[in-house]
Amino acid sequence: RPEEDGTYSKRTKYGLIGVIIHEVGHNYFPMVVNSDERQWTWMDEGLNTFVQYLAEQEWEDEYPSRRGEPRNIVEYMSSTNQVPIMTNSESLLQFGNNAYAKPATALNVLRETVMGRDLFDFAFREYAQRWMFRHPRPADFFRTMEDASGVDLDWFFRGWFYTTDHCDLSIEGLSQFVLDNGDPYVMKGRDREERDGKPETLSARRNRDMPKRTDRFPELLDFYNEFDDLDVTEKDREAYEEFLEDLDDEEKSLLGLELNFYKVDLRNHGGLVMPVILEIAYEDGTIEERRFPAEVWRQNSEETATLIITPRTISTITLDPHEETADVDTHNNVFPRQQTRTRFEMFKEKRSKNPMQDRD
Ligand SMILES: [Zn+2]
Repeated sequence: RPEEDGTYSKRTKYGLIGVIIHEVGHNYFPMVVNSDERQWTWMDEGLNTFVQYLAEQEWEDEYPSRRGEPRNIVEYMSSTNQVPIMTNSESLLQFGNNAYAKPATALNVLRETVMGRDLFDFAFREYAQRWMFRHPRPADFFRTMEDASGVDLDWFFRGWFYTTDHCDLSIEGLSQFVLDNGDPYVMKGRDREERDGKPETLSARRNRDMPKRTDRFPELLDFYNEFDDLDVTEKDREAYEEFLEDLDDEEKSLLGLELNFYKVDLRNHGGLVMPVILEIAYEDGTIEERRFPAEVWRQNSEETATLIITPRTISTITLDPHEETADVDTHNNVFPRQQTRTRFEMFKEKRSKNPMQDRD
């Protein structure tokens, strides 16, 4: 509460507004949508903390909500000593994080990243109206969110509500595939670049200036001392012309496209399956975002790959660029990996709790 002199700390201000919003919310969850708090604390506290977050964000620009943003749940998600949200109220561990913060964050992720606001809001409203003045149980919530939206959310509820898995996706590698168009100048040129790009070995370097027998007897040199098997020959040219003559127009137009095929190798280290959101920076300075649904993990929930077909050249890829998935380790979200920088403190900073009292 505020001090005698009428001043108050930032924490007091937002704590007061937040708690009033929260308690007003309880008129609806669980007083109207009458879930059983003694069995499933999350059904009223989690849902209510979620709507509290929505109301706080409508209060003022950048309201500092304590719970709701995915990045605020990261520490809890990677903590030990956890039980799933779907645990009877009496047996919960880390009560506030388990029953308030995690379900509120899960619903926020579902709304922003998985379903989209319109579809989520429609389904959530349907849940509240369908179960108004009734006694919903967890399956009633899960089922209503699915059948009102028509979206299969089993994987989401399983991961977030029935396990203690966390999200830690990583980009393990990036490989580029280039289409060979058969042009001998292009293909042999590429091979030559590859060959000449190899480092000179230690022996080759030491042998380079050694006197050779062919220096003394130049008549030993012949055709093969001049010939480079990566030179384009008359025969190569003829073969390519014949190849072109056999193509129809559509095949010919495909040859003209200079497309890069990139395979992005992804790994799921945390267990929790989530959509894959990639921010792709190209060498020409442009940036593009591509979003892949969580279904990319359906065949294999530990590793998968996505394909990016583009005329441009990729320089870096960043996974989850807007921090919307509560990914607990962001170092492995960037490819190629970036150097990490850590600050260490020379002195302990002291911050005033109530800056209103420090004013002159
Ligand atoms: Zn409450």
